[in-house]
Amino acid sequence: MLSNSLVELDRAHLIHPVASYRGHEKAGVRVLRSARGATVTDGAGQQLLDGFAGLWCVNLGYGVESVVEAAAHQMRELSYATGYFSLGSEPAIRLAAELAERTPGDLDHVYFTLGGSDAVDSTVRFVRYYQRARGKPEKDQFISLEQGYHGSSTVGAGLTALPAFHAGFGLPYDWQHKIPSHYLYRNPVGSDPQAVIAASVAQLHAKVAEIGGPERVAAFYAEPIQGSGGVLVPPDGWMKAMREACRALDILFVADEVITGFGRTGPLFACADEGIVPDLMTVAKGLTSGYVPMGAVFMTNHVYDTIADGAGAAAVGHGYTYSAHPVSAAVGLEVLRLYEAGVLENGRKSGRRLMEGLASLADHPLVGDVRGRGMLAAVELVVDKAARTPLPAASEPARRIFDRAWANGLVIRAFGNGAIGFAPPLCATLAEIDAMVERTRRTLDQTLEDPDVRAAM
Ligand code: PMP
Repeated sequence: MLSNSLVELDRAHLIHPVASYRGHEKAGVRVLRSARGATVTDGAGQQLLDGFAGLWCVNLGYGVESVVEAAAHQMRELSYATGYFSLGSEPAIRLAAELAERTPGDLDHVYFTLGGSDAVDSTVRFVRYYQRARGKPEKDQFISLEQGYHGSSTVGAGLTALPAFHAGFGLPYDWQHKIPSHYLYRNPVGSDPQAVIAASVAQLHAKVAEIGGPERVAAFYAEPIQGSGGVLVPPDGWMKAMREACRALDILFVADEVITGFGRTGPLFACADEGIVPDLMTVAKGLTSGYVPMGAVFMTNHVYDTIADGAGAAAVGHGYTYSAHPVSAAVGLEVLRLYEAGVLENGRKSGRRLMEGLASLADHPLVGDVRGRGMLAAVELVVDKAARTPLPAASEPARRIFDRAWANGLVIRAFGNGAIGFAPPLCATLAEIDAMVERTRRTLDQTLEDPDVRAAM
């Protein structure tokens, strides 16, 4: 009863993110009721393993009491404090200091946002300000990767390379440029890691030259692993090579760790996988494990000092009402404590199990590629392994695979091209990981029976 009326109210009033509005009205909302650990319960009472940690954000797992307590305590003590007028709050200052100690290199200055999109948006403002402050205002062109995702603010959506984020929105801006992804499984230069790295470096140089040379280019953006583009893992050494190329070209390297940060790939930050220090780094999601919204931009001492000296006595005009929100910061501190008290370690162990489990699916007739690192992975389905032919659009992979997995008690991310994404909470046990893999195999078997898939084989 209650659930039926919620569906109606939702249909009538609530606009959902990245949805076909008419398609959603037809399908109706699936209401989630509660969640603990790696298990969510839907409105019908069905329990599902969350293989996607909400939206790759609930790294800690759901319903951890000490996080709830940290938020409640902070709300009672000081529910809000602005950072304007040189005011501040203890949790925000402590979280900034704790994080600065753990970020790669001298990414020692942090600007807290509300999520990933405004973190990315903030980097664009900071990068432009930086280039102007050092006397190079003509360095105002930005480059990112095809298949990249950098949020849904107007500026960030322009850096994002997913067509749905551009069409009808007048994006990208003419100062936003793309170069091809490293996408190993479908790279025109083949899958030799060194060839792929060399191609990316050459493409960056070529794009910079095309735009007017290094004196026109401000920054290059990359995710350590491309998430929303289909969990595309670059070859080892790719990030390092691109970081070095940016240094040689005198353009800033911005690492977007919104998905990869906070243990998703193993270490606290994925940049550590390659031992690189970006000029700026964005995080969100795992920062608060999705309990409350928060994101952040880190910048090196050099970037910070250049901006600070450039502004002098003038205000750097960038800020939100909820920058460095004390409740979010208190949650961030407790989440960080728990990560280091065993959750990251568990994630590394369960991540190895996940990768082994998914690799065991490679014999399935539909599995063309298995890729991932830590607790971030994808299985890409094809109807012809030799030709790497994607599932036909007629088989509606995003909807039907998601629905089948759901019916099997598993939440996954189903991409439009037939890839299935995994990002379980880092607290997931080995038994839960095994169950996720087993439910995935069942989902694949059912997909193999789909008449629209069969027709394309
Ligand atoms: N950057 C990356 C790499 C992301 O994956 C996302 C969100 N999926 C964002 C930015 C935007 O973050 P948010 O949705 O919190 O605004």
